[in-house]
Amino acid sequence: MSDPGPFIPVAAPDLSGNELAYVTDCVRSGWVSSLGRYVQSFESEFAAFCGVRHAVAVCNGTAALHLALAVLDVGPGDEVIVPTLTFIATANAVHYTGARPVFADSEAVTWNIDPAAIPGRMSARTRVILPVHLYGHPAHLQPILQHAARVGVAVVEDAAEAHGALYGGRKVGSFGRINTFSFYGNKILTTGEGGMLTTDDDELAAKARQLRDHGMSPERRYWHPIIGFNYRMTNLQAALGLAQLERVDQFIQRKRALADQYRSLLGGVPGIVTAPEAQWARSVYWLYSVLVTEEFPLTRDDLIGYLREQEIDSRPFFHPIHQMPPYSTGESLPVAERLAQQGINLPSGVGLKDEDVQRVAEAIRRCR
Ligand SMILES: *Cc1c(COP(=O)(O)O)cnc(C)c1O
Repeated sequence: MSDPGPFIPVAAPDLSGNELAYVTDCVRSGWVSSLGRYVQSFESEFAAFCGVRHAVAVCNGTAALHLALAVLDVGPGDEVIVPTLTFIATANAVHYTGARPVFADSEAVTWNIDPAAIPGRMSARTRVILPVHLYGHPAHLQPILQHAARVGVAVVEDAAEAHGALYGGRKVGSFGRINTFSFYGNKILTTGEGGMLTTDDDELAAKARQLRDHGMSPERRYWHPIIGFNYRMTNLQAALGLAQLERVDQFIQRKRALADQYRSLLGGVPGIVTAPEAQWARSVYWLYSVLVTEEFPLTRDDLIGYLREQEIDSRPFFHPIHQMPPYSTGESLPVAERLAQQGINLPSGVGLKDEDVQRVAEAIRRCR
């Protein structure tokens, strides 16, 4: 068999900017924990990037989600509407508060939560609607925000996969009452592990800061009027994050160029549906994804296996959460179920070369 070529990963971080210099600075200065100037700089720069008043850095994206719900006082007896097609952390964070996640189906066009499916999932207990910007494409927020305002519930965006994506020309993470990001190693920006809350609300931001730091009173050291968490981000993480943020526009540009290339190479292939971009959206194509339909000669899983033989890494879409044991409800959410069976994430790292994308596309076309 001929040598397929070097391994192409799904995602790999690019740490070639000021990352090493800033982290070294932390180590040299001794400020490696959560005090130190990088946390504040990263927060203020990230807030400016999203166009919001406040950003609160935390230890990971799941903690950010939990904290966002905690500052909104979501708790036992409450319900939170989440898309069933998302990473498990979205639902788990709801569970941590004692509230119940209620799953909504996806829309076929953008693969995100279907705004039309939400009203039917609401009850008197619904406190929050939690749309996710799946794989970098913004959810259709306007009808969701309108409905939420009409019935008096909060919207929280899970923007873990969509740093810098635009909805109607405005950055995601600036629409909900409080919103969350992840900086896990494969996300658009990474701090190794890390997360962020964004909000325009001064009180929610202050409460998030207090809950992040053991509930400690901002005025009185070691006085804890409420029960909090230790969800702080370290200066080391923030140093990485600040260096990453300096190059975010470059990263997004590269992601979009990769998407253009994939679209032009795979657009006409029968049985392959390329990643969407709605008219009102600028996707950041966190993971460039396609659907493998019945028309394709291989199933999605067989295609993943074939690509692996070619030293090409790929991932299946997430499993719908309502079908997994802890949350299994027996209900049918058919659009999400179909997408989950057909979807595949292709190599999408900012370090990919044009030749790499060509090799992936050629491998897929060869299956025809
Ligand atoms: C990555 C991710 C999270 C969780 O972030 P961590 O930093 O890994 O805790 C939450 N929601 C979505 C949609 C994600 O993709």
